[in-house]
Amino acid sequence: MEVELVSIGDELLLGYTIDTNAAFFAREAAALGIRVVRRATVGDGADEIASAVKEALVRTGAVITSGGLGPTADDLTKPSIAALFNRGMRLDESIVESLRARWKARGWPGELPEANKMQAMIPEDATILVNRHGSAPGIWLEDDAGRWVAMLPGVPREFRGMTKDELLPRLVAMGAGGTVVRSRTLRTTGIAESALADKLGELAKDPAGVSLAYLPGWEGVDLRLTVRDVPSVEADARLTRAADALRGKVGKHVYGEDEADMAVLVLHALRAHRMRIAVAESCTGGMLGMRLTAIAGSSEVVHGGVIAYDNEVKVAQLGVRQETLVAHGAVSEETAREMATGVRERLGVDVGVSITGVAGPGGGTPEKPVGTYCVAVDVRGVTRSFRTSSVGDRHEVRQRATQAALSLVRVALEG
Ligand code: ATP
Ligand code: MG
Repeated sequence: MEVELVSIGDELLLGYTIDTNAAFFAREAAALGIRVVRRATVGDGADEIASAVKEALVRTGAVITSGGLGPTADDLTKPSIAALFNRGMRLDESIVESLRARWKARGWPGELPEANKMQAMIPEDATILVNRHGSAPGIWLEDDAGRWVAMLPGVPREFRGMTKDELLPRLVAMGAGGTVVRSRTLRTTGIAESALADKLGELAKDPAGVSLAYLPGWEGVDLRLTVRDVPSVEADARLTRAADALRGKVGKHVYGEDEADMAVLVLHALRAHRMRIAVAESCTGGMLGMRLTAIAGSSEVVHGGVIAYDNEVKVAQLGVRQETLVAHGAVSEETAREMATGVRERLGVDVGVSITGVAGPGGGTPEKPVGTYCVAVDVRGVTRSFRTSSVGDRHEVRQRATQAALSLVRVALEG
């Protein structure tokens, strides 16, 4: 099913209110196979509302409005849309009664104000959409050709509640939720696209009736599974089956699903082990510290760090030995390990992690071309490290090195 949304309110046009109602509706509806094909935003004027709704009715014949159902004079949604359908307005006694009861129940003084009775005025031959989250009821209007408008209040809590308990069930009952398009992403890191495809073998072609896309980026390769045009329950079942099959083959490279962030996983692991971490960064100049401290609550486990860009800093602040630098160079696993141990000991924490590399564009040699980097971790005296090289410009090499260091910490902590 395809629908259009019309969001009503001067404050939306002025930019003081962000249209969260439209975004909410689109996400909820998509999961049921209902697609928002167009969105419009108009001011509170009766003419503006009428012309936006009229166009949408001609085009799609299925329109949802948000806002302008309140008791004040600037709430013109109902009369202007009623006029489009050639319907008059009538006072609904049952709504007046429930407004009175609500007024009393709240212990508000005096009688229900006349202005509130505006909320009980509804178009003739309209269906009332019950509002359990506020006072203004929603309205459903439909013409002989089956074209319809559903009017919901603008207050986000009411809009969301009524979308869930009144509108979506109604649309599903009309046959809207036939089929859906749904995706699920497995996030991998530290393995190339081609190596992943090799490991997947036959699965790479058609993992149980879902399509598979490889989405490489600096965080790693995402495997996105998508099912199209099947009922919702079937879609979920197929995605679960396919995700399980994929994990069976490449599970150890998968660090999470959908929006998973390696930095968040590292913080979780540190918290679980009651450990604190410090970073020593050369070519990334603070990026690793930034990834970790971007997460709220990181101060519990992140202690600090040293940006050891110049070799002098590596020696003086981290205790890297001159001999190590001479024998193996600044970009070496040996140096990375001494950096990790140095920062762990000098800052007095459980875990030290380090990065040293050639971000480019200059500085590469035949043995250590641009894009080469070494990462190391020291967990209470036990160190691990690796060296690798990656493609990309300076920024991307730095991002990849940061992700690799986070991944190494995670592996070291989770075993
Ligand atoms: P009321 O009975 O409160 O007048 P209403 O249906 O008339 O309800 P509006 O007056 O349009 O709704 O908006 C009420 C409140 O909800 C305002 O604070 C407004 O900023 C907010 N709001 C309105 N529309 C949206 C929207 N599309 N997204 C997010 N907030 C909204
Ligand atoms: Mg209002």
